Amino acid sequence: MAKLTVRDLDVRGQRVFLRVDYNVPLEEKDGKMVITDATRIVETLPTLKLLIEKGGKLILTAHLGRPKGKREATMSLQPVAVKLSELLGRPVTFVDDCVGVKVEQAVAAMKDGDVVLLENVRYYNEEEKNDPAFAEKLAKVADVYVNDAFGAAHRAHASTEGVARVVAKRGGKCAAGLLMERELKFLGDELEKPAHPFVVILGGAKVSDKIKVIDRLLEKADTILIGGAMAYTFMLAHGVKTGKSLVEPDHKQTALDAETKAKKLKVNFQLPVDVVVATPVDTGKLNKKGKPVFDFTNVRTVSGDIPDDAEGFGIGEKTAARYAEIIKGAKTILWNGPMGMFEDPRFATSTNIVAQAVADATQKHGAKSIIGGGDSVKALKKAKLGDQVTFMSTGGGASLEFLEGAVLPGVAALSDK
Ligand code: ADP
Ligand code: MG
Repeated sequence: MAKLTVRDLDVRGQRVFLRVDYNVPLEEKDGKMVITDATRIVETLPTLKLLIEKGGKLILTAHLGRPKGKREATMSLQPVAVKLSELLGRPVTFVDDCVGVKVEQAVAAMKDGDVVLLENVRYYNEEEKNDPAFAEKLAKVADVYVNDAFGAAHRAHASTEGVARVVAKRGGKCAAGLLMERELKFLGDELEKPAHPFVVILGGAKVSDKIKVIDRLLEKADTILIGGAMAYTFMLAHGVKTGKSLVEPDHKQTALDAETKAKKLKVNFQLPVDVVVATPVDTGKLNKKGKPVFDFTNVRTVSGDIPDDAEGFGIGEKTAARYAEIIKGAKTILWNGPMGMFEDPRFATSTNIVAQAVADATQKHGAKSIIGGGDSVKALKKAKLGDQVTFMSTGGGASLEFLEGAVLPGVAALSDK
């Protein structure tokens, strides 16, 4: 059912408890923590501006890093308050706690349209435990609850789920922010009734990570294009040699079952016809985590068996060209999972070809293109095509769970329209 959004709310004079995703990357410079990428803060501005315009009192709550219940100074949201104030062009009061007297006093002093940011909610262990008493404490300053942190909605924590329940029990409204609204629209509604042809591109590392998504989308898609390391488990299941490639032998049957289901549902299910491989060589060095560092030599493209000494790093150009042709005819495109190890430029070509095809389908043929998954979004941005697609999810793990058809606790807690 459709969820209430901030557009539906009348918040004048009300205390709006707003859960945002301010889990930004920080770096220490001259003893101070500096934000290296403020994208997540910038993305919340439309929701904040709308609520300010509507005359609400905004009490922002967020987590940063994994302080595990301790007051970890390097994980304070204080620098975020400074940055937010700069971006918003108005004062943001920072409170160095998220519950208790200090919070209550700061909120009591607020006027309509004022903004307060509370300290890292994960300084308390009760947050991740979704402790009911802690949720009550947070809710002390909440008349209305808004969640704009889709990326945290797959976790039932006090600030993403518990507070909403307390507010709702009192008869208060719980709504989606504008960011959350977009995620629900594109990953939910648009894929529920997609315009056809609906082409799904699936890649990434493991079949086991994506099987639930494959299974659900087989019911809706016209075509499924498989790439990335996940393709090797399909090849293995067909008796093709995969050399040193990343495979999941325990999931051979999973792969075959997906293909059988595709046949039954008349879904065009495509596997790579060629693969870019390289020979890994141990450099004798260790990385920061103490794992051996490999270099790759003799990069080449093979079709059929992957040689014993070689490892696959993505779909070949013949496959990429085939996939690009299919993508160009699509009306709806969902992409989750890169076509290869795109982080290394030697293996990024096929992912870039597919990215360009998705961009062209969107810009030239009016297709709707939806990108889910943290690494897929990174790959698209790296190809400088992030602004050429219809929608890029901010959700990471949450978007994957949502695509699997799971009910996210942070979404379920919002009021129905
Ligand atoms: P997403 O975050 O978009 O859901 P995944 O996390 O499933 O995507 O997978 C992304 C990772 O898979 C990337 O780091 C990429 O390097 C890796 N990957 C893709 N193809 C291969 C391959 N052929 N060999 C090794 N790693 C691969
Ligand atoms: Mg990932």
